[in-house]
Amino acid sequence: AYTGPSYEQILETRKTHLTPNLQAHFKKPLVIHAGRKQWLYDHEGRRYLDMFGGIVTVSVGHCHPKVNQALSEQTAKLWHTTNIYMHPKIHEYAERLVAKFPGDLKAVCFVNSGSEANDLAMLMARLHTGNQDILTFRNAYHGMSPYTMGLTAHSTWRYPLPGVNNGILHVMNPDPYQGVWGGAACRDSPVQTTRNCNCGPNDCQAGVQYYNELEQTFKYSLPRGKVAAMFAESIQGVGGTVQYPKGYLKRAAALVRANGGLFVADEVQTGFGRTGEHFWGFQAHDYTPDIVTMAKGIGNGFPLAAVVTTKEIAASLGMALHFNTYGGNPMASAVGIAVLDVIEEEQLQRNSLEVGTYFLNCLAELQQRYELIGDVRGKGLMIGVELVSDRETRAPLAAPHVLEIWEACKDMGVLYGRGGLHGNVLRIKPPMCVNRADVKFAVDVLGRAIENSLGKQF
Ligand code: PMP
Repeated sequence: AYTGPSYEQILETRKTHLTPNLQAHFKKPLVIHAGRKQWLYDHEGRRYLDMFGGIVTVSVGHCHPKVNQALSEQTAKLWHTTNIYMHPKIHEYAERLVAKFPGDLKAVCFVNSGSEANDLAMLMARLHTGNQDILTFRNAYHGMSPYTMGLTAHSTWRYPLPGVNNGILHVMNPDPYQGVWGGAACRDSPVQTTRNCNCGPNDCQAGVQYYNELEQTFKYSLPRGKVAAMFAESIQGVGGTVQYPKGYLKRAAALVRANGGLFVADEVQTGFGRTGEHFWGFQAHDYTPDIVTMAKGIGNGFPLAAVVTTKEIAASLGMALHFNTYGGNPMASAVGIAVLDVIEEEQLQRNSLEVGTYFLNCLAELQQRYELIGDVRGKGLMIGVELVSDRETRAPLAAPHVLEIWEACKDMGVLYGRGGLHGNVLRIKPPMCVNRADVKFAVDVLGRAIENSLGKQF
């Protein structure tokens, strides 16, 4: 049972002492004080099904006993020395992690957050190639440090600072649902609920059109056509679970390499088995990146992140001393190893595929019933439900209506995430241990929330 300060006290402290722009979900923000697997508990003992996993971070389940045990055994032995000395855990972990990667991706740098990982990847790419310019997609999210804020192309998270965009170009987002060329039928998803593409299964015309558009950026915007890197999430997370038309990323990676650059896969949300079919999201796009960045699910909530690349690219940091106080500390390494163990032992990647596909099918059925579900997309347990006011124009559902549905789900015990530039995409990325009964409950609740919202004025 909860024994901490009262709700009113917590709210008062938050208002008085925490930064005023701290985000809080829900009109009456929740106090969450305990978690177990896919469940969260508030101060009044109410239980919630966590369909957002602390923003796609809790990969193997809240307070997983094996991860807890690994952490507590390590804290009893050694917390910290910084990597000026060797410690066995970081070496064991590095070996375990790189074994998950194909080809020459065998060198790892540990850091503490996704932003740091992407900062480091930018630095490596620029040093290694000698080029300056970096491409990302509009609608991408890669972090909030001054460097990565430049990569992020959501005005919601960008401050008007000089230099943030220094050497960064945002290219057209190959978004098959909201974009100009379609391609939804050629997305890599077990369900195809939205068909707005006329091409065959192996040759997505939309993908080619978006690729041609990317080529124009090289022609018009890049000095000598050269580039240091292009970054891509394997499925966009914060941007609202946006998948690209099949074949696009592979072509884009080849183009970037032909022009002197490296391709960076941001696997902060899509890694560690979440997309079901593969351990890494990029594997579904049939190419191997030069650098992979990862965070969130890697540590199940412990601050841990990493950059994995080739030895040659990693060596480019050698022209100065590279240093990170906490990166790969013994506690983080112990947690990282335990997370990999649990994913294997509990077959969570397979569970993501099976339960995720079931989820997508249930949502596709719900879409048949409700006009305002414009699109259901995703893979494994990386799912998006785009709410629209008009299926033809795909205009986003009005924010108050989205919020009504979202809050009603919370009141009935299911926590969904939201995303997309207009906040009209429900994001579903639960701990990977969820089961079919959880899915059934979550979809029933969403259906009821939508039904109850119909006919209300917003
Ligand atoms: N990349 C992606 C794809 C992300 O979703 C995020 C966080 N939402 C980041 C990078 C930044 O991670 P962090 O908040 O740990 O800096």
